[in-house]
Amino acid sequence: MPLYEYELCEGDCAVCGGRFTLRRPVTAKPLTQCPACKKPVRRVISSFNTPKLLKPLSVTDAKKAGFTVLKRTGKGEYERQ
Ligand SMILES: [Zn+2]
Repeated sequence: MPLYEYELCEGDCAVCGGRFTLRRPVTAKPLTQCPACKKPVRRVISSFNTPKLLKPLSVTDAKKAGFTVLKRTGKGEYERQ
């Protein structure tokens, strides 16, 4: 999961210090608010942290991101992996 860096668009935040990093799945929507204080944030683009190639999200990555991965079984039911 890539690590993204964010900073507040304006003001200060005692919780995040106005700047914080967050691991997010590549499929997640862009973060627009500080998760702690709900102030607007923008993503900081750091040159070394931007992968040129995005590898496909694997089942393991999805699980790490907290997704429940469902596998279809033969009986047409779904089972947690
Ligand atoms: Zn904050």
